[in-house]
Amino acid sequence: MSADRADRIAERLASRELDALLVTDLVNVRWLTGFTGSNGLALVGAGGYPFRLFITDFRYLTQSEEQLGDAWERQIASDILAHAADCLREAQRGRPLHVGYDDVHLSVKAHAALVERVGEDVELIPAGGLIEELRAVKDDEELERIRAAAKLADEALSEVLERGIVGRTERDVALELEIAMRRRGASGPSFPPIVASGAHAALPHAEPRDVTIPSGTLVTIDWGAQLDGYASDCTRTVATGEVGDEERAVYALVREAQQKALDAVRAGVAGRDVDAVAREIIKLAGHGEHFGHGLGHGVGAVVHEAPRLSQQSEDVLQAGNVVTVEPGVYVPGLVGVRIEDLVIVREDGPEVLTSLPKELVTVG
Ligand code: ZN
Ligand code: ZN
Repeated sequence: MSADRADRIAERLASRELDALLVTDLVNVRWLTGFTGSNGLALVGAGGYPFRLFITDFRYLTQSEEQLGDAWERQIASDILAHAADCLREAQRGRPLHVGYDDVHLSVKAHAALVERVGEDVELIPAGGLIEELRAVKDDEELERIRAAAKLADEALSEVLERGIVGRTERDVALELEIAMRRRGASGPSFPPIVASGAHAALPHAEPRDVTIPSGTLVTIDWGAQLDGYASDCTRTVATGEVGDEERAVYALVREAQQKALDAVRAGVAGRDVDAVAREIIKLAGHGEHFGHGLGHGVGAVVHEAPRLSQQSEDVLQAGNVVTVEPGVYVPGLVGVRIEDLVIVREDGPEVLTSLPKELVTVG
């Protein structure tokens, strides 16, 4: 697995005239090498520099051996970045070495130390996003893990809703959801769950409050599980008894927009165009200014990654992307509804991973 990924990186490096890539972000390190520890980096060389070097500290001597296998030369150092710099300086022969580094994640301070240490013959070139581009297309094993995370999250919510949420605080329901996911094997939630009732749901990223959920209102729940290194993400809006006509109308609108946008998902379609499908429907219903966020985002090792489905997106969907489709309508002080599914982008359409119903469900 990791040998194949390193080779794909090497191909990209060659086309950018880079001799090597320094991989420091731990999510990228894990994707590339399988290493799950808290301190490690990888160096991937290309062309005349075919090295595959992994550096960690003494604490991870055994773990890294188990997780990496023979595809990587492993080295142990107390200061892994300084050691990487030394390795690069030594690898340089006769002409300046062009080394890509992750300018999105490496701190200014670490970068300065690195520049100092590698010396004049190693040129550090910003290459942030190179691995993220590769990560956006998932292989079958990754898809299986995301599928499992989504299933686990669905089951956890069903369990919590069955027990009832009326009369409990938003914070209590969020906590129970998190526990239900952990009990089923999740390493944790993929982000802090959102549980927002009534007008509070009009804040798209509402934090759960110590406020009791009443009957006869809409409650938006946005949650996901982190399982085996992969995330899920889903939103459902449920009713706690009879709700008013306005709430029903907004729910029906979001549901229609969500379904039409889902139908538009397939390989080769621009993220911007899928966003536009939902946005147009919501705008025509007079709620254009009440849908203030993008339609969706990629999900993988982390809950927000490439590609984006939004008005500004330059991304074109590819088979093997995993994305959310999550339109919402938020009328300040009144009502908020969001419906979010997690889907695999296939050549001929979406494969929806979320199994929960989308008609307006009433819970006690
Ligand atoms: Zn979500
Ligand atoms: Zn989302």
